[in-house]
Amino acid sequence: MQVASRLAAASLLVVPALLGAQSSQSGAARSTSSTSTAPAITTADLRTRLSIFADDSMQGRETGKIGNFKGTEYIARELAKLGLRPAGEKGTFFQELPYRDVAVDPAAAMSIDNQGMQLGTDFLVLPSYGPIPFGGSLEGAGVQTVYGGRWGDTTAIDPSQTAGRLVVFSAPTNAQGQAAPQFWGVSGFARRFANAAGIAIATLDITPAQLRSLLAEPRSRVVVPGAPRSQFGMIVTRDAARRILGVALESARAGTAGKPLTIIARFKEATTEAPARNVIAVLEGSDPKLRGQFVAIGAHNDHVGFTEQAVDHDSVRAYNAVIRPEGAEDTPRQPSAEEATRIRGILDSLRATRPARMDSINNGADDDGSGSMAVLEIAEALATARVKPKRSILFVWHTGEEKGLLGSEYFTDVPTVPRDSIVAQLNIDMIGRGTAQDVKNGGPHYVQLVGSRRLSTELGDLVESVNTTGKHGFTFDYQYDANGHPQNIYCRSDHYSYARYGIPVVFFTTGVHRDYHMVTDEVQYIDFDHFRGVTQLIHDIATTVGNRAKAPVVDKPKPDPKGECRQ
Ligand SMILES: [Zn+2]
Repeated sequence: MQVASRLAAASLLVVPALLGAQSSQSGAARSTSSTSTAPAITTADLRTRLSIFADDSMQGRETGKIGNFKGTEYIARELAKLGLRPAGEKGTFFQELPYRDVAVDPAAAMSIDNQGMQLGTDFLVLPSYGPIPFGGSLEGAGVQTVYGGRWGDTTAIDPSQTAGRLVVFSAPTNAQGQAAPQFWGVSGFARRFANAAGIAIATLDITPAQLRSLLAEPRSRVVVPGAPRSQFGMIVTRDAARRILGVALESARAGTAGKPLTIIARFKEATTEAPARNVIAVLEGSDPKLRGQFVAIGAHNDHVGFTEQAVDHDSVRAYNAVIRPEGAEDTPRQPSAEEATRIRGILDSLRATRPARMDSINNGADDDGSGSMAVLEIAEALATARVKPKRSILFVWHTGEEKGLLGSEYFTDVPTVPRDSIVAQLNIDMIGRGTAQDVKNGGPHYVQLVGSRRLSTELGDLVESVNTTGKHGFTFDYQYDANGHPQNIYCRSDHYSYARYGIPVVFFTTGVHRDYHMVTDEVQYIDFDHFRGVTQLIHDIATTVGNRAKAPVVDKPKPDPKGECRQ
């Protein structure tokens, strides 16, 4: 699952107090060659598969990196063994995304009255990143400039005054009325000035060093050929703003022209370390009349790669048990004296059983090793079944979920089967946990469902009836599906890419936990009985939807596919 807001987390980042991490021990690399598995969905198979997929050798499966490539190789190799039909590009199981490393050209420069300004010191070109809506280039001599007032103030300047000009804004203010660096907090404001040559916001002096380096970092993204040009944006110092406007910000008046600017600021693209790719396979339906329709089952093949610094495994677990019970979902902070004592106690008891172990690999055993291997086990069970479902089953392992649902967005924009023929999508992200220690109200029969009735009441009802008639015995927790829920789960995993096109979805998860997006998300903490049960339930739902005479009826309004997701 995608983090709620990397920018918010980064600007608040506190390194957890790691207590007494000393010795280092490298994880012994297990062989990643395939081991035999049985046709049925079994705990043994799930363990075998997950031990391969979430092994250290997969290096955290970050999109565009070699580890993610190896993970997708494993999935495709298993699909070939099962004899499933490749449904990617050019007769393969893969659909490659136009994913590129994008970085600001270090030659970026600008000048006023022939006086140069330095990239990094006087200005910083803004990337397209999370909620930041920029990432465009700007080049020109004599670019007209204008002061736009305070960033976020819709009364200061009318967009009719900004056409073709670089608009300079002073910093937005926070709730206390102080200048703040969080210019992305004013949602949609940048779009008002789509006609401008670009936007400059005078927040560089107050931007924390950590956020500054985060913004300057090269990053990878999908570069769709022929897509509309992104807006150019930069942050500048107050002094640079003064030089552009010819007057200090305090005395500038919105709408007043500044000096003409000469600027070269562009982004450079390069291929990533390894291709970013979805893995796609089809099991042909048994009914000639219905096999043109698909029940889609999905998970994400990527995770978040390495951590910046190695951390001690048990220190993270002990700290998170007390301070961050939902892992990266919770903001880190300094423990109180009482909390520090509790953390120390937990760590001491762990130290009594095993030595310290430094680690920097986010293995993503649960996120989304569990979903990915569940889809593979379902594929194996259906491919080897004597009687196949009437409709075809479409299996998609999406890449780039952690980077912002990139793989599922790309697949649904550029589908390799007719999009209208997908009758439902069952998305699986993190189904290996959900015990009483992991989640409030958790237990062996705990599953969270999100979105199951948001487009089709019938599909949501069907999930309930399969659970009952199949005697699966799960208790569904629907609290995260509430409209406006602060965790916004409906918008945070791949199902939404399908739902935005009006395809009914069900999202299955056993929920976030202390190891969420941590080096501690490892196979040893997976509850395999629980994991197997949820996998079997989803298998049975897919089979039921696949065999019904009619596709699930969509009785709710469809969202705008290009609009913003709202839970
Ligand atoms: Zn995740």
